[in-house]
Amino acid sequence: MVQPRIIRSYINGADYTATSGEVFADINPATGETIAEVEQASAADVEIAVAAAKAAFKEWSGMTGAQRGRILRKAADILRANNDEIARLEVLDTGKPISEALVVDVASGADCLEYFGGIAAAIHGEHVDLGGQAFAYTRREALGVCVGIGAWNYPVQIACWKAAPALACGNTMVFKPSEMTPATAICLAEALTEAGAPPGVFNVIQGDRRAGQMLVRHPDVAKVSLTGEVGTGRIIMGDAARTLKHVTMELGGKSPLIVFADADIENAVSATLNANFYTQGEICSNGTRVFVEKSISAAFQKRLAERTAKLKIGDPLDPETHVGALISEGHMHKVLGYIEKGKAEGATLVCGGNRASGAGLDAGYFVEPTIFAACRDDMSIVAEEIFGPVLSLLEFESEEEVVARANDTEFGLAAGVFTRDLARAHRVVAKLEAGTCWINNYNITPIEVPFGGVKQSGIGRENGLAAINHYSQLKSVYVELGDVATGYPL
Ligand code: NAD
Repeated sequence: MVQPRIIRSYINGADYTATSGEVFADINPATGETIAEVEQASAADVEIAVAAAKAAFKEWSGMTGAQRGRILRKAADILRANNDEIARLEVLDTGKPISEALVVDVASGADCLEYFGGIAAAIHGEHVDLGGQAFAYTRREALGVCVGIGAWNYPVQIACWKAAPALACGNTMVFKPSEMTPATAICLAEALTEAGAPPGVFNVIQGDRRAGQMLVRHPDVAKVSLTGEVGTGRIIMGDAARTLKHVTMELGGKSPLIVFADADIENAVSATLNANFYTQGEICSNGTRVFVEKSISAAFQKRLAERTAKLKIGDPLDPETHVGALISEGHMHKVLGYIEKGKAEGATLVCGGNRASGAGLDAGYFVEPTIFAACRDDMSIVAEEIFGPVLSLLEFESEEEVVARANDTEFGLAAGVFTRDLARAHRVVAKLEAGTCWINNYNITPIEVPFGGVKQSGIGRENGLAAINHYSQLKSVYVELGDVATGYPL
């Protein structure tokens, strides 16, 4: 057996050996094997990381946006040049198919570095005319040390989506990847260092929630950006509130995908597959509540089942694989538990429904792409986030009805509408309570477009120019050109 490698934290531009003496296993979910041992950061390590980021802030925030942007764009080039190797690490950590990781995960992270690198020089305040005797201006200033905390489904992308806007604005960052997927945040850290980021600008702390909590509670941290579950978001917001930190919360969802009878069915089925089985269903914005207008529901279901049956479950490193392994044994059992609940609550199992077994699958955490029909809004599989390859088909008869049912959830991350009726598409989208909507497509997240949730799905936005507002603050400066008016005697 190959000795598992050691994954460490990364502080001040170099690998950092934790002082805790505690390690945990990084497991390949496709095989159940330990592929690395990860050093859990101690309180002392967290202190050192935050101190490094604090020390680096002066130099980094003092550079011009153009200088910072050049470094971010160079880091994007380095990630792209190492795309295949980083994608492979991502597959070993996450269990997602290599066919996805090769074209999406690293590329999306690099796009983000390039985008915010490109606009770093254009981040500025405004001039406010006050009528000749005075004027004011605003300075758009960095916040300070920002903490990023990642989920395990898109590790390198999440690290880039947080680091790029933060660093473009002149902040420094301590990033804690999910303990399930510790490998690729280090690739980003190394790329930034190679691109010329001064030591301490981007640091990585490895560890579970204990490390995250210490970072969130640290008085020298100005902002926390989390990607994770709603419950985690509530706890972190509470901890961040102790010192009134800024927060961005990218949380869970149970998003509706609405297919009207006039839609292009083949496209709607394609989008439904993307919206449910990409990354084996472990995507926050997935359209897992698929509302189909009654008159086409039988035809839609037939075509969806036919195409789902062709999906190949297998070794995530095999380029032919469409559906990889779920992140952990515990998560697999959670997903299988929901499937059992769906059956018990009276939904009709159309396909899937089991742990996938057979050659090469038995040691891993594979679940068949699963479709339930005849679902009701009050079923657990319809109301709760499953975060696996399980979709619920729901029938509707009117626009008004479907909008009300789509919105009848605590979540509000995303939504999709398929129709050829342009007026209806925009009318429905305007009424949907979701931070990101797609018309005649699903789960497309270009870096130029703000992404985030409403209701319990989140606060703040990543990507697009909107992210700049969440990583900077305004200072207003009043400038007097005349005399100081006063009622007091001279
Ligand atoms: P999680 O909430 O269990 O963990 C997320 C991160 O928070 C991990 O790094 C974890 O170590 C850390 N953490 C947990 N408790 C903490 C605490 N008290 N203080 C500080 N850090 C703490 O989520 P997960 O299981 O890793 O990811 C799946 C969830 O993430 C799903 O709900 C999914 O919808 C959501 N998600 C959202 C988005 C989005 O952009 N909205 C994207 C991807 C995933």
